[in-house]
Parts: sequence; structure tokens; C-alpha cells
Amino acid sequence: MSGVMNFKNCGSVLITGASRGLGLQIVDSLANGGFSPGKIIATTRHPAKKCSVSNLLNLDSGKKNKIFVSLLDVLNQESIEKSVEEVGQLVQEEGLNCLINNAGINLVADFHTVTAEQMIENFHTNAVAPLMITKAFLPLLKRAASRGGAGSEASMGIQRAAVINVTSLLGSVELNWGERAKNFKWYPYRTSKSALNMVSRCMAVDLEPDGILCMAIHPGWVRTDMGGSEAPLSPEESISSILSVIGGLTEKDHGSFLNFTGEVLPW
Ligand code: NDP
Repeated sequence: MSGVMNFKNCGSVLITGASRGLGLQIVDSLANGGFSPGKIIATTRHPAKKCSVSNLLNLDSGKKNKIFVSLLDVLNQESIEKSVEEVGQLVQEEGLNCLINNAGINLVADFHTVTAEQMIENFHTNAVAPLMITKAFLPLLKRAASRGGAGSEASMGIQRAAVINVTSLLGSVELNWGERAKNFKWYPYRTSKSALNMVSRCMAVDLEPDGILCMAIHPGWVRTDMGGSEAPLSPEESISSILSVIGGLTEKDHGSFLNFTGEVLPW
């Protein structure tokens, strides 16, 4: 059974950074899935791309009607709050079931070239923004969690409420050693994703009492603008596997760091 099928009990999913790459692929795969969520909220920071997100996808009008586009610059608090208001009106008392913090940047710099400004910029987009966005959307996530979802009252998962942080294997402190540490010596990116991993773990502790599942997932090395043309995975392959994992998340995955294949990764 594909993971997208498991979204049938999920009322709404919001994706940050849905203008291209993995974010756009998530929107496409969710909309085209046999049992897709009720509402797919694609967010982008560019007003010009607002109309084009669903037009980029080859969807029939029935599927397009499920997609709502909201402007959201993850670095701008006012923009985040406006989006929360807009999404609140859309989901009403049902709340938001699944928040996917996907937007990210990769500022490539090694030990010799890295600057303080690059570190801070990468840290802001990749680690600070997912925290601020989750805080802002918390009332909507709580509303969904308090309704209990379609499954058992006590269960955790996307049928109830979940925060998914798209992180990277390159953020693993443990794996950055020996042979593996010889490539991708990207200080701003690696450290920002390590920080995002800790943000995920901290939020998992804090959101648990509300029944909101929180975890971090590595999408694999994927052929997007960020991943480049040498990457082994297509966006379709990565996202089909990721949605399968997300669709099946339960309490046991709360606070975890998983590969796109579902395996547990070392922090
Ligand atoms: P892309 O560079 O292809 O796309 C990045 C997306 O993030 C774009 O939609 C971009 O929007 C958006 N974004 C960046 N900054 C902001 C901002 N301030 N506000 C709103 N949106 C913003 O990257 P991928 O799709 O490849 O990556 C998606 C996620 O997956 C990232 O978190 C990345 O770190 C992670 N990842 C990717 C891997 C890969 O191999 N591709 C490997 C491991 C992790 P815009 O079009 O407006 O610039």
C-alpha cells in the first residue's frame, strides 16, 4: 500500500517551499495520490509564483481544487502570521493536521571560505524558521490534535497532528567522521541541519503533551536545484518513499530522525 493512501484520514497538509524541488513534488504526489488529503496547502514566498504553483502541475480540475496556495516567506514573521490567519480560515475548526517544514537553502562554504554572515543566513532559514513556523501554527495543530483524528483517541500520526522537518544526513554529527567526512565540507548547511535536528527533538518533547507527533526526515540525495543533476534519486522516487514513511508514522516514530526509506539514522 502506498503511503499516499495513508493520507486518506488526514484533513490537511501544509508544505513550506512548494515553488519547486521537493516541496512542489510533495504537492504533486499528494494531489495525484489515490487517497490524498482533503486540503493541500502549498506555500511560496513569491507573489508571482502564487498562481503558478498549481499550474506547474499537470492536474485535472478536481485535483487542483484541493490545492490552496498561501504566501509564506519563512524568514518573515509578518508573512508567517498572515499565512496562519489565512490557513486558519481555510481549515476552520478542523485545524491543521500536518505541517511539513521543507523550505531550505544550502550556502556552500568550507572552513577556509565560510563567513559569519553565511552561517547565520543558513541557520536562520534551515533551523530558526521551522521553529518559528511551528510556534505560529501551533494553535491550528493543537486544534487538529484535540479532535483525536480518525483512529484511536490516544494515537499519534498525520490523521491527528504532526510536524515533519525535512533535514539532511549531512546534519548527522555521528556520520561526519572518517571517509564520510571527506566530502561536502559545507559548514553553513551541515551545522544548520544539525541544529534543525535538535530543534526537532526539543519540539518533540514540548509537543508530546498535546499529542502532536514531531520528527525529522532525510529525503535522500535528490535531483533538484539544490541536489544537482548527479544525484541518484528523482524527486518522484524520494517523495513517494517519504510520503509512504510519513503516512505510516505512529507514536514509536515520535522524536525520530529517519531516512526516506524509513530506517532510523544516527544523530
Ligand atoms: P531547492 O533548492 O530545489 O528548493 C528549495 C525550496 O525552498 C524552494 O521552494 C525555495 O523557494 C524554498 N525557500 C528557500 N528559502 C525560502 C524562504 N525564505 N521562504 C520560503 N521558501 C523558501 O531544494 P530541495 O527541494 O532540494 O530541498 C528541499 C528540502 O530538502 C531542503 O530543506 C533541503 O535542505 C532538503 N534536502 C534536500 C536534499 C537534496 O538532495 N535535494 C538532500 C537533503 C536534504 P524559492 O523558489 O522562492 O527560492
